[in-house]
Amino acid sequence: MKHWLQWKIQLARLRHRLRTKPRCLRWILAFVLPVLLTLTLLSVFGPQRCSCLISGNQAIYANLPILMNRDPVKIHVIDVGQGDSTLIEFQDQRILIDCGPPECSLTLKRYLQDLGIHSLDLLILTHPHDDHLGGARMVLDNFEVKQVMLPHDLAGNDLLADIRQHLEDCRIPVIHPHRGMKLEQADWSMTCLHPLLKSYENPNNYSSVWLMQYQNIRCLFLADLEKDEFSQIPDIRIDFLRAGHHGSATSCTPILLKKLNPLVIGISCGVNNPFGHPSPEVLAMIREQNLSSFRTDLQGTKVLSSDGIFLRWVH
Ligand SMILES: [Zn+2]
Repeated sequence: MKHWLQWKIQLARLRHRLRTKPRCLRWILAFVLPVLLTLTLLSVFGPQRCSCLISGNQAIYANLPILMNRDPVKIHVIDVGQGDSTLIEFQDQRILIDCGPPECSLTLKRYLQDLGIHSLDLLILTHPHDDHLGGARMVLDNFEVKQVMLPHDLAGNDLLADIRQHLEDCRIPVIHPHRGMKLEQADWSMTCLHPLLKSYENPNNYSSVWLMQYQNIRCLFLADLEKDEFSQIPDIRIDFLRAGHHGSATSCTPILLKKLNPLVIGISCGVNNPFGHPSPEVLAMIREQNLSSFRTDLQGTKVLSSDGIFLRWVH
């Protein structure tokens, strides 16, 4: 009762003070302050939250999604040393793009097992290089894989021949991706943008490139596609770009970054790798264009999530 009376007195005092203020100040208090408050709330909870979350201070938002994350889509850019492996989870569906090099098979196995994963709906092996295919036998031996996408035949690639034979023996369906192929569910899709041909001179250009769309969010997975094939990449705004060829200058060009204008770029590469990935030119370009980025060699595995409107760090 006493508190209530004090509040009432305070309110009366405030009302009196406002009445004695000049008229313009009253207008400011009546209209400008609510507008400022609305703008502040919008910047935190509104449509711009996506860019705030991605480009803001990681310390602020890093823990938030861990506690409250119910986003139906998660993208795990897994640290597999000098190689690539990305897990995409769409609620109960799981797609693994590439399996890293053979020496990181155990890391990949533990990572998937720690997530409680026993089966994969689809395994996409983008192109016939060890740093992408190396862990494939481990995945096939330890997880139930319902379907596999393989690049077209490349003569003389023993690892690819071994995987092909294993898939045939285990009767696991094999698909060869091609431009225009689409995997679709009610609210998400994965569209294959490359390859257009069945054979290429440069093995990197066998890379199957996938554009994932979940409501308003678009993510592009370039594998190791080289710049001579970039005409296949449409001129669209991307939220998350899995950088091509471990951030090499032959795959991350200024023109590409300008046309995709990603909110965040993920670079998968090994610590002190002998190829010098990512290229200093690419890193300079990312800095110049003020793009958010991460590197698995420096930050380890990174996970992003989305509810179809916002893109968030999970960790
Ligand atoms: Zn590679």
